Amino acid sequence: MSGKALAPGARYRELVTAINEADRRYYVDDAPMLTDAEYDALRVELNALEAAHPELVTPESPSQRVGPSADDRVEPAVKLTEVRHERPMLSLSNAFSPEEVADFAASAAKGLGGREPELVAELKIDGLAISLIYERGKLVRAATRGDGTTGEDVTANVRTIRAIPTTLKQPATCEVRGEIYMPKPSFAALNAERAAADLPLYANPRNSAAGSLRQKDATVTAQRNLSFFAYQLFEEPAPAAQSAALRRLHELGLPTEQNARAGLTGTSAASFLAEWVEKRRTLEYETDGAVLKVDAVADQEQLGYIARSPKWAIAYKFPPEQVTTKLLGISVEVGRTGYLTPVAEMEPVLVAGSTVRRATLHNIDEIRRKDVRVGDIVVLQKAGDVIPEVVRGLAERRTALLPEFTMPTSCPSCGTAVVRDEVRHRCPNRACPAQNFETLRYAVGRGALDLEGVGEKLLAQLVERGVVRRIGDLYRLTAEQLDGLDRMGSLSDGSRREGPNRISNVLGMIKERRSRELWRVLVALGIRHVGEATATDVATELQRRVPPTGGAAWGRAVLAELRSMTTEQFTAISGVGAVVAESIVSAFATGLAGESLEDLFNAGLIAVPAAVTTNVAGGPLAGEVVVVTGTLTATGWSRREAQDRIAAAGGTVADGVTAKTTLLVAGEKSGSKRAAAEKLGITIVDEAGFVALLGG
Ligand code: NAD
Repeated sequence: MSGKALAPGARYRELVTAINEADRRYYVDDAPMLTDAEYDALRVELNALEAAHPELVTPESPSQRVGPSADDRVEPAVKLTEVRHERPMLSLSNAFSPEEVADFAASAAKGLGGREPELVAELKIDGLAISLIYERGKLVRAATRGDGTTGEDVTANVRTIRAIPTTLKQPATCEVRGEIYMPKPSFAALNAERAAADLPLYANPRNSAAGSLRQKDATVTAQRNLSFFAYQLFEEPAPAAQSAALRRLHELGLPTEQNARAGLTGTSAASFLAEWVEKRRTLEYETDGAVLKVDAVADQEQLGYIARSPKWAIAYKFPPEQVTTKLLGISVEVGRTGYLTPVAEMEPVLVAGSTVRRATLHNIDEIRRKDVRVGDIVVLQKAGDVIPEVVRGLAERRTALLPEFTMPTSCPSCGTAVVRDEVRHRCPNRACPAQNFETLRYAVGRGALDLEGVGEKLLAQLVERGVVRRIGDLYRLTAEQLDGLDRMGSLSDGSRREGPNRISNVLGMIKERRSRELWRVLVALGIRHVGEATATDVATELQRRVPPTGGAAWGRAVLAELRSMTTEQFTAISGVGAVVAESIVSAFATGLAGESLEDLFNAGLIAVPAAVTTNVAGGPLAGEVVVVTGTLTATGWSRREAQDRIAAAGGTVADGVTAKTTLLVAGEKSGSKRAAAEKLGITIVDEAGFVALLGG
């Protein structure tokens, strides 16, 4: 269904078909095919289309009725006796944003001649609506909503629900409406049981409640641990307000949801909604929103009804935290260090404010654990609202047998047989083109040689043409080699055109950056575990060992020193642990680091010492080996800024947590480094603690 370009009539028919099908799956089969957000989006589109083309609306249109269409209810999965409701059971209009809630409050005030009515806010429990008829205090009939006019008789089943009294505290004759729901723990337990028995799982507590209630055999319902909250009362004399009805329900011995709040205005209702977006997670039952109702019955009567819902109430839906989309494929990327990473390629979808089409799946074990298969509908969320994350594949929505994903046995870039290091797969070929490209990309990056202007696209072309094989080649680039490349233009076009200018810009920039600080050059070598902080520590030590002489000779002397240094000598550098030291030594002994560096010097790169950062000997962090992890949101400092401050305060900055680390600064979303520090008993401070240590 992507026919938004269709003529309105055709699109309208498509939407009606899709909504009818979704309704049938949801209300009749208790097995929805869409998420509520997807379904709501269809309805929003339908409403907009009807508003623009009122001639399209028919009595059968989904906007004119409640629940599934009559045709669909001819053959329900479970055939129960039908009963007619004394008063129709309606649906509610929906609001998806605070603005729409404000509109609701404003239009209610308008309908009341400019007087703002008092509102009641009730959490919207995600279960199914039930009508209970009591005669002289005895429960005589319970019915589902059905299409709003005719529902199903579920009296025997409802009698098994302990929260619903079969006898009221007073011999009242009334109709009570409310929501039957399944508490979250019971839902989880039920699905676990069903999984063990190889039965299809329920998509959400609402469907499990409906499925549990709509059973021929009431003993099945009895085992399902359903519960109930009452929210509406029809009794003579009628309560004068919704808040009074809630009190009366309680008085009759019926459970009401305790977080409902009365006496609200449009503004305070908005705060109630904002408050519950997060707080609802602490509840034992699922809520998908809150219902705002005009409190006084006289006001309700004045406002009246539209087709399928009252004008005096609105259901505000909490924003969906998860969305679903289709997994189109899983691509495998080869990183700088040779690790193969599976990446989910999805149909683009909007989640938490941005469109997402790709997300890392980390490794094969994660794929298995989440049971994600190509062709699946997958649940997607943003971890910490930033990084898109595939939560799981919806196995229950597979319509065909989908094969499990397997990692390639050979490298997708060079074809070398892949090896497995615990959970990850790796291409062991050091000359692998993909690894080489990633290494180059990393080397020209901001935290390394910072060759601004050599972007990914240009680099890809240069590598593809065999012009650039290693970093040194970038310093050998000629105008002829850039000539004719995409967006570079042609030299023969004349010097005033953009092309040749871009060529000279790129070459000029590279020339300008021929002298680079030693730490940048070390980072560019792409040695495992050697990030900016470690490279800075090592460079400082090298600067001490090989006194700077100026010119190209110093770099070569440093290289000789690097080649001769032992693991012990590296570990002696504060901030360098055993793993890092070994990685450096092996990069120079057997890896390509030495050759790359030599080649860089041959190509004309000059390594220069960094301006010595004078560590404050008596600074507040003197003697501390500090690691920064996570995001520093309160100060907004980048990692580099924080590290500079640590150095200025006399501390030593390290990249990774080791036994030498004495302090961990943990920003938001600090993960493995925090865990490592906890294990080692290292002092951990949050951002505020860090600022305090720096001296405020
Ligand atoms: P609704 O969300 O429009 O709201 C009305 C219902 O809210 C009532 O019938 C009642 O059951 C419930 N409710 C809970 N607490 C309440 C309270 N305090 N006061 C009043 N009512 C309360 O419900 P609807 O008309 O049954 O269905 C529409 C919604 O159902 C959609 O927005 C969608 O979320 C979901 N749906 C999903 C699919 C799907 O395929 N995923 C299909 C159909 C419907």
